[in-house]
Amino acid sequence: MSVAPRTDGVLVDRYGRVARDLRVSLTDKCNLRCTYCMPAEGLPWLAGPELLSDEEIVRLVRVAVERLGVTEVRFTGGEPLIRPGLVGIVAAVAALDPRPRISLTTNGIGLDRLAPALRTAGLDRVNVSLDTLDPGRFTQLTRRPRLDAVLAGLAGAAAAGLSPVKINSVLMRGVNEDEAPALLRFAVEHDYQLRIIEQMPLDAQHGWDRSTMVTADEILTSLRTRFDLSPDPAERGAAPAETWLVDGGPARVGVIASVTRPFCGDCDRTRLTADGQVRACLFATDESDLRAALRGGADDDDLAGRWRTAMWGKRAGHGIDDPTFLQPTRPMSAIGG
Ligand code: SF4
Repeated sequence: MSVAPRTDGVLVDRYGRVARDLRVSLTDKCNLRCTYCMPAEGLPWLAGPELLSDEEIVRLVRVAVERLGVTEVRFTGGEPLIRPGLVGIVAAVAALDPRPRISLTTNGIGLDRLAPALRTAGLDRVNVSLDTLDPGRFTQLTRRPRLDAVLAGLAGAAAAGLSPVKINSVLMRGVNEDEAPALLRFAVEHDYQLRIIEQMPLDAQHGWDRSTMVTADEILTSLRTRFDLSPDPAERGAAPAETWLVDGGPARVGVIASVTRPFCGDCDRTRLTADGQVRACLFATDESDLRAALRGGADDDDLAGRWRTAMWGKRAGHGIDDPTFLQPTRPMSAIGG
């Protein structure tokens, strides 16, 4: 399928998809050790000089917003709240013209303390990862006894006026798949929006096994034991989550079924890693180095051109079902959601 070249300079790929949603990983480090993400001892972290500075991040985001048609910016990690310059980065991005919508994906630890400053700086909304409401199971899953801090983070985000406040939950067979209804009950009672995510083959240990993944069908069956779910009339667009009204609404629940119901055909995401690499897809096995160009004196036109070239080659989809599928060497913790 040949796609007519676009003249408006946006990030188009050879299938005609346009990337408007930029995910920026601010660090590969994290203060949790989730079993489906990394080993207990952590990982060999990126060295300081490898990481983009706050100024370099803001410059690349500015290029994306001013020259490449990006309208959404999501900060991720590792854990973005541990990046010292986070509030300043958010403020600088909020000052861009046109102003992008700004969101954050976090494990919530420390969010109660930082939410007011992030809101004032320009953060619009937040997704907090939470896979269980059971303190013992939380400690087992994350190897840290921090459930209270995450719950306080959620409440702090809502109190600061971030909206929506979403919960991202990953369910695993024999671990926490029984908690889907309870997580939804909790979300509805607190006016949070729950997103349940199929576990993806992106763990550092490369131990993902399809048989332990809880599928979208199973998630919906479980939720329907307690709730009436009806189709959401709202337009889905390029959003990863398929959503349903809960008990007639207005509460909604979403399922992100990357594996069993892939949504790559409408993908509008582009990614920048903490060490300045462009990833056209979460599952990309190649990357384009913007950091070297930036530190080598490239001007904004050059950086924009390199980014367009990187996205043009984006594959049609993640290819998880292909016998040739190769899990990326870079783990999720260094890519970000
Ligand atoms: S797997 Fe890749 S192409 Fe598919 S939706 Fe995710 S980022 Fe987009």
